Amino acid sequence: MEIFRRLGISGHVRDTTFRRDYGLSMVYCTTIAGHFLGRIPYPSLQDEQPIEESPETKWRCSQIFLNPMLEERVKAEPLIDIRYLTTLESFEDLGTHVDVTVSVEDGTRETVRTQFLIGCDGAGSRVRRQLGIGMTGRDQIDQSVAIFFKSAALARDHEKGDADRYYFIDENGWWGNISAMDGYELWRLTVPGTAETAPDIVANARSWVRRALGTDDLPFEIISSLPWRRTELTADSFGRGRVFLAGDSAHTMSPTGGLGMNTGMGDVNNLGWKLAAVLKGWGGPALLNSYEVERRPIAVRNSGASTHNYNQLKSVLDCSGILDETPEGDAVRARVGSAIVSATETEWETKGIHLGYRYEGSPILSPDGTEPDSDDFRWYKPSARPGHRAPHAWISGGPRDGLSTLDLFGDGFVLLKLGETAPDDEPLAKAARRRNLPYRTVALTDPHIAALYELPLVLVRPDGHVAWRGHALPETPDKLLDIVSGGA
Ligand SMILES: Cc1cc2nc3c(=O)[nH]c(=O)nc-3n(C[C@H](O)[C@H](O)[C@H](O)COP(=O)(O)OP(=O)(O)OC[C@H]3O[C@@H](n4cnc5c(N)ncnc54)[C@H](O)[C@@H]3O)c2cc1C
Repeated sequence: MEIFRRLGISGHVRDTTFRRDYGLSMVYCTTIAGHFLGRIPYPSLQDEQPIEESPETKWRCSQIFLNPMLEERVKAEPLIDIRYLTTLESFEDLGTHVDVTVSVEDGTRETVRTQFLIGCDGAGSRVRRQLGIGMTGRDQIDQSVAIFFKSAALARDHEKGDADRYYFIDENGWWGNISAMDGYELWRLTVPGTAETAPDIVANARSWVRRALGTDDLPFEIISSLPWRRTELTADSFGRGRVFLAGDSAHTMSPTGGLGMNTGMGDVNNLGWKLAAVLKGWGGPALLNSYEVERRPIAVRNSGASTHNYNQLKSVLDCSGILDETPEGDAVRARVGSAIVSATETEWETKGIHLGYRYEGSPILSPDGTEPDSDDFRWYKPSARPGHRAPHAWISGGPRDGLSTLDLFGDGFVLLKLGETAPDDEPLAKAARRRNLPYRTVALTDPHIAALYELPLVLVRPDGHVAWRGHALPETPDKLLDIVSGGA
């Protein structure tokens, strides 16, 4: 949402067709019509409270609504040309440029010449395969099936209440869950299986939805039923030469936690400004190399967290007797309900994952000698230490009244001068001008923001991460700019 804010579309994402008053709790049950086991309560989008650490709140938006929004945003960029039904067949990195062979629907081929190529071509990436880059991790956690279906009655006519997700547990533990896609009538039932069982699940989608509902009283219509492989894989390298990988071509992860696309957005937020810098002539060779150094550890971190969430879901195994209509059955349901709620809670409390990632050891950062705090998936402690996402605070007073500090970043480097007595930055500004490096100074006197950022001078990169901070400018500002622009 913060990246979308920078692109000017977070408001559109909030205005999506997801029903605003639909409650987004997690509900655990035997079936929709069966026994209730537990609930992790969460409000609807309209009741979601702002958080202190970000100008945005988490939001629910299915890709079926998000993709057209991204398409509209991209179309507004005069430099971008979208070509549908066009397949990359192969490419050749010629050192100064890349020649890409594409085929169009009627089978004709064409060569597209480009300075750089980014393979955003998903988990089966042809770009990655042509580069000969392998993937490391777990290549088959399970083979799940996504059954997409329509049922207005499921949003209305039962007693489990609204839920972002309904989890189904029987004698063998968790066997599937239904996710709300729009809060009105669109749903996805996920059934984890194996390579052997998945085809059968695909073929019998109707009976699986019926099993989840546990009743014939909720009419539904199947839209599609598709198998997908749950994996935890990270590409051994995020590119070579003039060709890069981003998104699922670079990393795959279990959807438990909803981190896959979020991580891909983080990749392009990191790579985009670096490519622009090199194309505009102020970025040096270390800038592009830093993409992998910075992003690969985040992919490993996020895919590991996703598998952890999946394992937590599968950890409640002893469920025998859960369907019994007896006092003993009631006791099993109470025990399993409380076990699964506490096992899965971490999946939903992930501020640390989303806001606390940092680029430790990057060659384009100038460290300040402080030690990192722990990278806790659950808790986030704002930090302006180099490598961290520059913290959010609301600005009050002056021409920027009502903006977030995050709204200051995105187009070039920003030197924040914080507090009443921040030193002059003219030598750094001059050095930036000499090398055409986009640079602005923003003075903020608010003591609360100065305390949050800790030191009076903080240099923030175009992707909103801190590059350097100090009490005073370095003696040789050019040396600092060499590092942060990848020229050193
Ligand atoms: C059930 C499920 C639920 C999920 N839920 C979430 C969630 O809540 N939050 C989240 O952040 N992520 C979630 N994800 C993950 C998310 O869907 C992916 O991480 C994301 O779609 C990856 O985007 P991508 O653009 O990298 O790859 P893809 O979405 O796979 O897109 C790749 C594109 O490249 C095209 N392509 C492939 N080969 C070629 C070629 N040779 N030439 C031209 N085009 C080509 C494909 O047609 C496709 O359009 C979920 C995934 C699943 C399976």
